Amino acid sequence: MDKTSEEDRINEMTDTIMKVARGEYSIQIKSSEENDDLDSLAIGINMMIDDIRASVEEVEREQAMSDEKIIELEQSEAATLSILEDMYEIHERLKKTQKKIKQQNIKLKKLNQIKSDFLNVTSHELRTPMSAIKGYIQMIKTQTLGETTKEQKNALNIVLRNINRLDHLIQDILDISRLESETLKLIPEKTNVKTMVEETVETMQSSADLKHITINTVIEDKIPEITVDQERIKQVIINTISNAIKFSPDGSIINVRSKENKDFILVEIQDFGRGIPKDKQKKIFETFYQVDSGMDRKFGGAGLGLAISRGIILAHGGEIWVESIVGKGSIFYFTLPVVGIGEEFKGIDIFGLENGGV
Ligand code: ADP
Repeated sequence: MDKTSEEDRINEMTDTIMKVARGEYSIQIKSSEENDDLDSLAIGINMMIDDIRASVEEVEREQAMSDEKIIELEQSEAATLSILEDMYEIHERLKKTQKKIKQQNIKLKKLNQIKSDFLNVTSHELRTPMSAIKGYIQMIKTQTLGETTKEQKNALNIVLRNINRLDHLIQDILDISRLESETLKLIPEKTNVKTMVEETVETMQSSADLKHITINTVIEDKIPEITVDQERIKQVIINTISNAIKFSPDGSIINVRSKENKDFILVEIQDFGRGIPKDKQKKIFETFYQVDSGMDRKFGGAGLGLAISRGIILAHGGEIWVESIVGKGSIFYFTLPVVGIGEEFKGIDIFGLENGGV
């Protein structure tokens, strides 16, 4: 092996290493087939070049993959951003709507307060002259102010009937405004349900007799005593029985039942009258609502009885509802918790204004 060719081979190696350093990885040092030390060195350098090439290719592949990932990430970031923008816009719109609803709610509450105050004041103001009129009519009727003819007496009876009707209406309006303004006071007392229901049915007997209606009363003997405002619960029973009489044909039957049902006392008033259409069965518990306003007003009602009854029952922690089939009849149900009510009644939010309006 002469010196020059050795030098050439070393030069080739240096050259190759320089090229590799500049980024050419696909080159290799040709073998001289001398099998000497320089050859082993060349093989070593070639192996290193192979290693470097493999590592560089690996790094390039990873780079390409992470570039793809970056693009994907950028795309999903853009999508997230636009979703966020949309959400922000929706949120802003929601905030505005909420604000509007709140303002309308405040307005509604104020209006409701004005209405309650108006009802309260007017009904109080109407009651005072009413008692004076009633008193004088009674005096004329009993001839305290001189003799009256038969015709005058008949006329006075009609006046008295209408005055009583008006008085009843004023009383109902007062009750509604008390329930609405949460000032209705309940007077709780220990009550025997059987006695209370039977006594109430008795007071309704004369109106039932006018239409030859039979009222059957079935009350479970073991029904426990409960603490309720007896007069108010009687008012509910009178109301539902008087409706049952009003909307039932002559000679029909009314069933009044009461039993204990778990933690509640259940009272049912069943009639076989005209019934109530399904879509009206909730509405009849609203103030001034009547199924047939023209017809039903002729019966002397104003659509307040059931709203008051609902208020009274809710105030006692019970529920009131109706099941009815048009042409077949209705069953009004109400419940009263066996635990009874506390001393202080806080009133109820009959129109649900506290919970976001009607
Ligand atoms: P009203 O003084 O008009 O009877 P209520 O609040 O007691 O007022 O009842 C509201 C309406 O519900 C009535 O006008 C009537 O249309 C309907 N209603 C109530 N009870 C009965 C019933 N037993 N059968 C049929 N309809 C009824």
